[in-house]
Amino acid sequence: MSSSLATWRLDCNRIGRMRPREPETTRPRRIFSLEFFAPRTPEGASRLQVACDGLSTLAPAYISVTCGTDDAAPERTCRAVETLRARLGPSTDLAPHLTCVGSSRHDMSRLLAAYRTLGVRHLVLIRGDLPPGVREYMGDLPHASDLVAFVRAETGDYFHIEVAAHPEFHPDALSADADLANFKRKTEGGATSALTQYFYNPDAYFRFVESCARLGVTLPIVPGIMPITNFERLSRFSESAGVEIPRWMRKRLEGFARDPESVRAFGIDVVSRLCERLLDNDAPGLHFYTMNTIEPTRTIWTQLGLEPEPAPP
Ligand SMILES: Cc1cc2nc3c(=O)[nH]c(=O)nc-3n(C[C@H](O)[C@H](O)[C@H](O)COP(=O)(O)OP(=O)(O)OC[C@H]3O[C@@H](n4cnc5c(N)ncnc54)[C@H](O)[C@@H]3O)c2cc1C
Repeated sequence: MSSSLATWRLDCNRIGRMRPREPETTRPRRIFSLEFFAPRTPEGASRLQVACDGLSTLAPAYISVTCGTDDAAPERTCRAVETLRARLGPSTDLAPHLTCVGSSRHDMSRLLAAYRTLGVRHLVLIRGDLPPGVREYMGDLPHASDLVAFVRAETGDYFHIEVAAHPEFHPDALSADADLANFKRKTEGGATSALTQYFYNPDAYFRFVESCARLGVTLPIVPGIMPITNFERLSRFSESAGVEIPRWMRKRLEGFARDPESVRAFGIDVVSRLCERLLDNDAPGLHFYTMNTIEPTRTIWTQLGLEPEPAPP
């Protein structure tokens, strides 16, 4: 065990004291879900299977599977959905992501048909990241709102549609108001609910939800939760995604440079408290970005006592 002053020990007593949440009959059922990414290599595929086997105690409402923007990406996601379906059984709700960058309407129609054949009823519709230096995508479906409108026009109410929300605003947005207006467009096009980019500042989320409500956007906006395992990777990723790591967190994490156990313990502590605060303030669920490793999501999930909530009567 490290004897460094910076060592962070998980306060198990504190987390153990988190009170279990009683479902309230007046509020809609909360949705607790997970995200995996579609693996690119045989090693990645094995890792996904291991993660999958670690799910048994969690009972997520659904599992989403990301999709890249290269030509082979939809095929990879389809294969990952098939693997998860075979491993987890037909009753698990699987939600593949569809990205419109690099895809034509024709590609999308074929993909939608393939997912219907696989029994999928739930999609996450995303634009996808643009290649470095590209400011605007000029394909058939340039924005996620175009993809949502297209999927609704093609398939009616068949799919439950999730879209992305950015509580700290999308890095390319011209302004906060423009980004909110663009988010509203996606919801008006037929999104059922939204999943946010991850964040560590809950006030950004609360204010975003408030701003949406003022614009008449009232669909559930479920916080995306990124557990912390590797500070360097998180830092790089946050920079490109426009996510702020608060200074106090950054300083702590920098202090644990050669102490992965402290990073893990600190991450579980910070993320558990974040989740607790979100749920105490009526967040409609939590969506965990697992990065295809079930820990530390499983620890956070278990300590928070997340359980499927009964459907309203
Ligand atoms: C929950 C979630 C899941 C994700 N899954 C994936 C994934 O599977 N694969 C992947 O590659 N990436 C994924 N990402 C990252 C995502 O691709 C990037 O955040 C991307 O840059 C934006 O996607 P979007 O769907 O929010 O895009 P959009 O909603 O299209 O918005 C992108 C930008 O364009 C602007 N905009 C939108 N509509 C218009 C318009 N009509 N006119 C002008 N500007 C407009 C917006 O303000 C914003 O700045 C995910 C992100 C989240 C939050």
